[in-house]
Order: sequence, then C-alpha cells, then structure tokens
Amino acid sequence: MKRIGVLTSGGDAPGMNAAVRAVVRCGLDRGMEVYGIQRGYEGLIEGAIKEMDMSSVGDILHRGGTILRTARSERFKTEEGQKHALNVLSAFGIEGLVVIGGDGSLRGGLELSQRGITVMGLPGTIDNDLGYTDYTIGFDTAVNTVLSAVTNIRDTSSSHERATVIEVMGRHCGDIALYAGLTGGADNILVPEMPFDINKVCKKIIQGKNRGKMHDIIMKAEGVGVDAKELAQMVEERTGKETRVVILAYLQRGGSPTAKDRMLASQTASKAVELLYDDEDSKAIGICGSEIVAYDLEEALSIKRPFDTDLYHLADVLSK
Ligand code: ATP
Repeated sequence: MKRIGVLTSGGDAPGMNAAVRAVVRCGLDRGMEVYGIQRGYEGLIEGAIKEMDMSSVGDILHRGGTILRTARSERFKTEEGQKHALNVLSAFGIEGLVVIGGDGSLRGGLELSQRGITVMGLPGTIDNDLGYTDYTIGFDTAVNTVLSAVTNIRDTSSSHERATVIEVMGRHCGDIALYAGLTGGADNILVPEMPFDINKVCKKIIQGKNRGKMHDIIMKAEGVGVDAKELAQMVEERTGKETRVVILAYLQRGGSPTAKDRMLASQTASKAVELLYDDEDSKAIGICGSEIVAYDLEEALSIKRPFDTDLYHLADVLSK
C-alpha cells in the first residue's frame, strides 16, 4: 500500500498526537505517502485532507489534544455520508486509513472497511472502555490527572474535616474512578459496573469518623445512577459530615501525555503502519500484557470489556 490517511475522532485523548506523529513518521520511513484528515469523519466528508511530512508532526509528542482536531459526525452515520467519505478517499487515492478514537470511531472505521477501505483502529480514548485491549491511549494520563486532583482535594478536605464527592468521567466504564480511586486512597469508589448502595457508603464514612479520620473521598464515575449533588446531600444527612462536590469534567481530557500513553500510542501506530504496508485486512490494535496485539476489526468490537472485580475488592480492603 502506497498512500494512507490518518484521522482522530470522537473525544480527544492525550497521546493522540503521539499516535499521529508515529503514523506519519513510520509511514514515511516505509516510503508511503501519508495524508492527515482534519476533524475526524466530518473533515473526511468535507475533504479537509493535507499531505503530511516529517516536520508537520514536529514538536507535538508532548502536547495533549490533537493537531488534526476531532469531531463527532452525525452525517457520517448515514449511508450517504459514508459514500461521500469513500468518494473523497478515492479522489485522493487513499487505500488505507488509521482511525484513532473510541468505540464509536472504530465502528465508523468498520463501516468503511466493509466498503473496501482497509482500516487500522487505534484505541484513542481516556475511558478505557474497549474490550479488546488492556489499555487505551489517554487513559493513563487521565488517571494521573485525577490522582493529582485527589491529592489536592484531600489536603483541604482534611483541614476542614469534610467529605468530598469527586465525579470523574466514565458513563459505562468505571476504570478512571477505579484506578484513580485505588491509587488515590479513596474511601468509596462508585462505578457503573457495581450496584450503588448508599448504606455501604455511609457506613464506611461513619466507621472512619469513629477512628478519627479527617477526610473522606468518594470517587464517583459519572455513569453511576445518582446525581453527585444528591449523593453529597444524602451523605451529609446520614453521617452528619459536611460534604462537598467536585466535578472534574473536561479537566481530565487535557494535559501532556504520560510516558505510558506516548509509548502505547507510538507502538500501536507503528503496528498499524506495518500492517497497512503488508496489505493486511482491517484490524484493531491494542495491548495485551506487554504485547502489542492486532485483532480483526469486527471481532475486536464484539469483545465486551470485563470489569476488574479483583481490583475493586482490593480498593475496598485498602480503604477499610
Ligand atoms: P469517546 O470514547 O471519546 O466517546 P468515540 O469514538 O466512542 O470516542 P463517538 O462519538 O461514539 O466517540 O464516535 C465518534 C464518531 O464516530 C461519531 O460522531 C460518528 O461520526 C462515528 N460513529 C460512531 N458510531 C458509528 C457507527 N455505529 N457507524 C458509523 N459511524 C459511527
């Protein structure tokens, strides 16, 4: 394959730039022409495509966000939109595409691959919600960002002897809450994969209070079926402990990617280019243990993400 494209789609994630850089530089190293597509599938439909060279990806490795920018495209979900995208790819002579994004973006890639374009999907999302890979690009940075916020909140929470509900991203997958909660020593971790029990939350807070604990951190993923402010009110009413709410929101999406995210982005992107160069069929690329893996794209998207109950129980034991 001689001519390939790369796009970032869905929510941005730290490490997307590292992935774009590696696609471009590994592609050029193999003598390929690499085209950058702006604003995800929306830009593809509009023909916002530009040839990339070594210097177009210079000085971006350490930057959060994505230089290609990203978008969510309703048009691309229609048959007409997809046909339009294929026509644009054909006009540029692009035979293979690297799609960097979450579950939806990779599903969009599957639609294109079923219409004759080879698509290599890279897991670019902070949510860590893809079943076929242990980790996604951006997850580690997001966890570290939340961890740093927990450390700061803990200081003021202790000084005022308060409880704090910290709401983090994760509509269906509680991994950010779980990882940041465990490593940040949260007293309660609430995730969409486990049942919410207000009595369990309050019991832990009261037990902590009885043994002289100064602060309480309740780490809550946004997908847990209770509003953060209502939760704080319930905790305050039932424990008598002043309870505040901090919603971290988009703060979690930005920032310079960690070494782990840069490594994952660079290695998965390199694999994607190698597979395109070898004229392989469409794949989703990820990591299993310490190994970079590539699965058939459709099969990869059918794998349901298992929730790590062992880690969840460990967090519970450590915060008793
Ligand atoms: P994040 O995890 O950050 O939400 P994502 O890639 O899952 O990222 P989505 O908004 O679900 O984000 O998808 C991004 C884009 O991919 C959509 O706006 C749409 O253009 C395309 N897309 C999503 N699902 C499909 C689908 N089933 N078929 C075709 N295209 C899709």
